[in-house]
Amino acid sequence: MFQHAFFYLISKNNHLHGLLPLPKTIPVKIVVVGAGIAGLATSVRLALQGHQVDVFEANSYPGGKLTVFENAGYRFDAGPSLFTLPHLVDELFTLAGKDPKNHFQYIKKEVACRYFWDDGTDLTAWSDAQKFAQEAGAVTKTPPEAIAKHLKQAGLLYKITSGIFLERSLHQIKNYWHKDVWRALRYLPQLELTKTLNQVNAKRFQSPKLVQLFNRFATYNGSNPYQTPGVMLIIPHLEHNIGTFFPKGGMHAITQSIYDLAVSLGVQFHFNAPVEEIVVEHDRVRGVLTSGICQLADAVVSNMDVVPTYRKLLKNQPAPEKTLAQPRSSSALIFYWGIRRTFPELDLHNIFFSNNYEAEFKAIFDDHTLYEDPTVYIHISSKDEPGDAPEGCENWFVMINVPGDTGQDWDALIPQARQWILNKLSKRLGVNVETFIETEDLLEPRLIEQKTSSYQGSLYGASSNNRMAAFFRHPNFSNRITGLYFCGGSVHPGGGIPLCLNSAKIVAQTIKSAQ
Ligand code: FAD
Repeated sequence: MFQHAFFYLISKNNHLHGLLPLPKTIPVKIVVVGAGIAGLATSVRLALQGHQVDVFEANSYPGGKLTVFENAGYRFDAGPSLFTLPHLVDELFTLAGKDPKNHFQYIKKEVACRYFWDDGTDLTAWSDAQKFAQEAGAVTKTPPEAIAKHLKQAGLLYKITSGIFLERSLHQIKNYWHKDVWRALRYLPQLELTKTLNQVNAKRFQSPKLVQLFNRFATYNGSNPYQTPGVMLIIPHLEHNIGTFFPKGGMHAITQSIYDLAVSLGVQFHFNAPVEEIVVEHDRVRGVLTSGICQLADAVVSNMDVVPTYRKLLKNQPAPEKTLAQPRSSSALIFYWGIRRTFPELDLHNIFFSNNYEAEFKAIFDDHTLYEDPTVYIHISSKDEPGDAPEGCENWFVMINVPGDTGQDWDALIPQARQWILNKLSKRLGVNVETFIETEDLLEPRLIEQKTSSYQGSLYGASSNNRMAAFFRHPNFSNRITGLYFCGGSVHPGGGIPLCLNSAKIVAQTIKSAQ
């Protein structure tokens, strides 16, 4: 019965490209549009396959969202701060015959995150599953065995599903005959596809604080725990069974090391070089247009968000409207504050929870606005990299989840949100935080879109707010235009550094197998 349900789910979406044959081409010269983390990793993999690779990047720097800046002695990683599955970066060096440790180093964090509630409760979430279960059990009056069991199941389901949903194309029929698929079908009821993540967590745990903590993992890919399917229960496996990591030199070391690797392999980078059009003739890619000049190519990989790729670069081609209409993941409002004191109670990752999580997500996803008591995330890289802030100071990356830009009055909303954040943090930390702010920079949905072309400024492409979301994401290739491929957070398998790195792997394999 479950097998039938599964194949019904994948086949009823007739927009799925996957069940068609792959394009046949023998690329020699390949253009990558965009040097985001996925574009960089794709360029490395394609160069290693012996192709001539040119990357055209609109900005003057590589990395897209994964970039860096400095202000008055404070260094800030501008985008991602949470690093999981570092082996996916290592793998690129190993493939190139290099020892990753000589090029990219990182530490495993003992503390994954510190959680704070307004009522004075705080909780240290250890990377170690048993230690975390003990601590969370004591704080939330929950049997630690129940938490340990939850994490164990998350690990099992992750292992069963990741090969199918995160590491291979969902859009090539051959992948459905893989033994992993048949194994996963046996676990279908445990995947909790008919419930929301909140329903699963609320059924398993009585403590509202513990439910909130596990609901928070929906934000890993910018989704809403009150809508995203229960299968997202697998995500805590990353933090509490595998662990979180921090690169030496900060998150930007991920970009820098992969960029350096690509250069060493002969990839040609062209900065300040926005691609204006992907040139297509008779349903076959011919190259790209940049600064009015056509750069010929046998294949093009777009690392630009899939929505503007179709709307701007492929204006004259039919677009997969249903795919492009999928609701987007959340965006973010970030204040980068240079703070003139230290806070020993804070760690690398800190979360100050809202008192009404459901109302907060309703505001973001249903009302497309901000909530007056937002959950505040603070990332402080100077905790692990003291040189990131002047002595006796800290570099605070202060972020709240917000909706994508659909024309809200951000100029009014942002100062309001700043005050809400300051009130919340000041109350909980017992000091007037504003008096310690020495430098301030800002990132918001409109700027995210301006700087990276991410549609609506969303962080992770389409959201996972329905159980078919994985199948609705755009494939890593075009089934209509020969030689056109896609990588990055807006296409399969989704957003976040690990999935972007996986998209690069899928694209490289697809190009190889199309030869
Ligand atoms: P992008 O980084 O968006 O890069 C696309 C690149 O393409 C850009 O450089 C852009 O300039 C270029 N480009 C676009 N159009 C053109 C064109 N026409 N011509 C030439 N170049 C073009 N992920 C995590 O794993 N952990 C986190 O903690 C995390 N936190 C985040 C916090 C923030 C504030 C943000 C913004 C994102 C966060 N993410 C996090 C998500 C993660 O950053 C993204 O999923 C990932 O970096 C996306 O990489 P990408 O390669 O898809 O594209």
